[in-house]
Amino acid sequence: MKTSQQELYQEEIARCRRLYRGFENLEPFLLEAFQAVFSFIESYEERGGILEKVNFDKRKAWSRLKNGESMEINPTIQTRALVGILNELGQAVVRISPEIKDSITNFQKILENFQEKSKERVLKEEVWKLKELVVGEDILARDMATFIFTLALSAIYRFNLEAVSKGLRTDLWEGGNCALCGEKPHFGLLRSEDGAKIIECWLCGTQWNHIRIKCPYCSNTEQEQLGFFTVEENDSCRVQFCKKCSSYYKLFDTRSIAGENIVLSVHNLATLSYDILAREEGFKAGSGLEWVNEGEKLELDD
Ligand SMILES: [Zn+2]
Ligand SMILES: [Zn+2]
Repeated sequence: MKTSQQELYQEEIARCRRLYRGFENLEPFLLEAFQAVFSFIESYEERGGILEKVNFDKRKAWSRLKNGESMEINPTIQTRALVGILNELGQAVVRISPEIKDSITNFQKILENFQEKSKERVLKEEVWKLKELVVGEDILARDMATFIFTLALSAIYRFNLEAVSKGLRTDLWEGGNCALCGEKPHFGLLRSEDGAKIIECWLCGTQWNHIRIKCPYCSNTEQEQLGFFTVEENDSCRVQFCKKCSSYYKLFDTRSIAGENIVLSVHNLATLSYDILAREEGFKAGSGLEWVNEGEKLELDD
């Protein structure tokens, strides 16, 4: 990713600081984490090939999306580069929180082992298995593991798939999952011009229009079962929920976030307290991404 990309993220972090209370705690950590990931990917750029190249026939893609089938791409990831990024993130964590140095040392051992036992390239499913192992063996808390793994995977996907994603005719897509990679979404936005609901894939960054009164997970369109809540009258982030499948996702209302080129993934990380709240209200993340630890409670008063 170019330096400009890094600057874009830095600006977004500054914007989020003004928008969301409680974000100050995570901010230095995010700055370190993005810096670490971008520097790594940049240094790898010439060597290329972290993510397997994705090609498809435009016309076939067109008819597939029109038939309601996601492209479901699942490119392989170079194991060494993936482990390199995860390691960088681990080190970034230690720089901010030296007290968990031992956990990160154990994390690095697991990574080493993973690299030794894996093939040269792995699929994202194998990366998720590794994440579950890290959580299952109590090496990292679930929220920390989700943070590190989603950041690494989404950076790899976004950096390599931007052109492919932009070339996809998502105007033909009405599904709730990602048209390109098939992942279930975790966030989206309300477009500033017209309030239209746009969903963004947390993994590959593909955006698509989605019917406003419709659950992306179970396709429920019953208005009485769909709703949203905000926190402390902050309109920038809405937690959208569906009572039929008990799931939630977040929508960032760009009408109340001044500025252009909004990086939604930063807003997602800046509003993890909303995820805790959604869970307290009895909803699960429709994306399957667990940003919250078991028994964690929201403390807004400090
Ligand atoms: Zn995607
Ligand atoms: Zn639903």
